Amino acid sequence: MIEKKSQEEVLIPPDLDQCQAEIPNGNTFMTFGGVPGMVRCKNKPTHIAHEPLRKDGKKRGSMSLCGSCLAVCSKQMSGVIFEEIKR
Ligand SMILES: [Zn+2]
Repeated sequence: MIEKKSQEEVLIPPDLDQCQAEIPNGNTFMTFGGVPGMVRCKNKPTHIAHEPLRKDGKKRGSMSLCGSCLAVCSKQMSGVIFEEIKR
């Protein structure tokens, strides 16, 4: 029997050197050869965002965010806990 990997084993640790948010790359469906989609933000992160506490007790995910992505995230998500990165 093959054991399924639980979700906490595949969580990516926060990257303290590059913001982990994905932002639109500026291309629309009329791409003229460009690729629409999301690209990883290239800014240096200032905060770590932690997922809200889960009732089922599963490990929470976390990711690094730069100042501008943090502003977007705090507007769109509720319950996210932000922790400042101390350098
Ligand atoms: Zn960012």
